[in-house]
Amino acid sequence: MLHLASGMGRLGTESAFEVLARAKALEAQGKSIISLSIGQPDFQTPGHIVEAAIKALKDGHHGYTPANGIPQVREAVAADLHRRHGVTVDPANVLIVPGGKVTMYFAIAMFGEPGAEIIYPNPGFPIYESAIKFTGATPVPLPLLEENGFGFKAEDVLSRITPKTRLIIINSPANPTGGICVKAEIDKLVAGLEKHPDVAIMSDEIYSEMLYDGNVHTSLLKYPQLADRLIVLDGWSKTYAMTGWRMGYSVWPKSLIEHATRLCINVHSCVNAAAQWAGIAALQGPRTEIDKMMKAFDERRKFVVAELNKLPGVSCITPLGAFYAFPNIKGTGFKSKALEVALLDEAGVASIAGTSFGSYGEGYLRISYANSIENIAEAMKRIGSFLAKRK
Ligand code: PLP
Repeated sequence: MLHLASGMGRLGTESAFEVLARAKALEAQGKSIISLSIGQPDFQTPGHIVEAAIKALKDGHHGYTPANGIPQVREAVAADLHRRHGVTVDPANVLIVPGGKVTMYFAIAMFGEPGAEIIYPNPGFPIYESAIKFTGATPVPLPLLEENGFGFKAEDVLSRITPKTRLIIINSPANPTGGICVKAEIDKLVAGLEKHPDVAIMSDEIYSEMLYDGNVHTSLLKYPQLADRLIVLDGWSKTYAMTGWRMGYSVWPKSLIEHATRLCINVHSCVNAAAQWAGIAALQGPRTEIDKMMKAFDERRKFVVAELNKLPGVSCITPLGAFYAFPNIKGTGFKSKALEVALLDEAGVASIAGTSFGSYGEGYLRISYANSIENIAEAMKRIGSFLAKRK
């Protein structure tokens, strides 16, 4: 018998990939499935970014790069952060990683161990809890409730800090709810953290360019008092429709960047060289296609929320960021997982149970509106007929 390390038994997963596989299997049997499950833009990466990767390959960028990324891409990231948030970041503190997830895992691995506590959003991106458990640390959920617009109050975070707390994870705009953190609460949180100087913070800002209705993202980089303990996760996947390129970046405190770079050297050496050149083109190139994509997401957001609210037993608050709606399905009489399974098998609509994002997700479903209005309309029709039959 093989003796697997105990952490393997604690490793969770991201249901989006499992639902995708089940949906593909049903499609292979000839069933029509509309996917509202996967968290990736349904747009192609803009052409000038693709061209930059092709050029990099033709120019001979085929070898390893420095583990932390080529200087040009780290400088481009620092310039972009200045453009977007008005902050000055030293390119030496920027790390290029194969996707935002890698930053997440590195930050959690750096602080997680048996006896340590890590506070994380629930419902939240499932890999936070999975990675925390894998390290043997104790996951401490920060409930994000519908009555608070799925945001948090500073006090909710501060009251969960104990002498064992090593890391706090926050995420705005948020997956799976589309909720955003209000600046006033972030101000209060940062002020309260002064009393806890030994606690690190990871701010997951992967959706920081996806806000609606005039809302503005508040990056934690704007708080210089956090500079010696703040890790910011961001990247190209969502903003530039580049999920398959595996390109992300993070900003680390001076005291941690060497540790983080060493993790890169141990795990993946460096990110694909051509993708790094494409990443520069993305940050420095025209934004017309990005603006078009955001306009389409905004139209779909309004449409899907209006349609969800017409369904029997369903209500949905308007998400202010990302490309997810998180309808309350308690009035349907279904538990989240049962509804996810029934909608896929019986209505041909792929969605994700709220519980896939943590225990506080019971009673909700995640709907990704990264799909055309026509497909979303058809999906809503199918869900409506399914629910009407079950009444
Ligand atoms: N953080 C959040 C909140 C996400 O939703 C995702 C992807 O869905 C990621 C990070 C990971 O992004 P990437 O595809 O760049 O690894």
